[in-house]
Amino acid sequence: MVRINVAQQLKAPIGTVRNYELDEVVDIAGSNSLVQGEVSLMRTDRSILARGTLQTEIELTCSRCLSLFSCPLTLNIEEEYLPTTDVISDTPLSLPDEPSYFTIKEHNILDLTEAIHQYALLATPMKPLCRQDCAGLCPTCGCNLNQAPCNCPPKPADPHWSGLSKLVLVDSEASVKEQKGTK
Ligand SMILES: [Zn+2]
Ligand SMILES: [Zn+2]
Repeated sequence: MVRINVAQQLKAPIGTVRNYELDEVVDIAGSNSLVQGEVSLMRTDRSILARGTLQTEIELTCSRCLSLFSCPLTLNIEEEYLPTTDVISDTPLSLPDEPSYFTIKEHNILDLTEAIHQYALLATPMKPLCRQDCAGLCPTCGCNLNQAPCNCPPKPADPHWSGLSKLVLVDSEASVKEQKGTK
């Protein structure tokens, strides 16, 4: 359940913990993703503290070979949910002047959807790779080198770098001579 009725737990003593299994499809960044895991809700003096580790997968485009792949994400959620109305008298509660919490919606519904969105965004890699050793695209013909090697001739060694390695060699020989000279 992504939307949990916490009326009973708001009435329970501080420290009361309930665990919920999550196995639900959530819309993450425009695609339906299965979110699975366990969330524990704990009654605190002013809120319900939601903690859990959720697994999901989202569709991403590989930054190297540009193919779509499904990227597993782990969401380690820890968020405080404050009630907006008193669970027994149903009167509005004043909320603390701080930005770092979620609120429990009408009818005592604790909705994890927004937290899942935010954590998924944070867990999404900036430069996604379909696999660590993705071979990418051939710069000459553009074919995907993960699927098959192409027939393009190998790139000639960069003259700049070969020149540099000669320089380093000459340099080290010179320093050896120098050292001998000083003895
Ligand atoms: Zn790739
Ligand atoms: Zn090629």
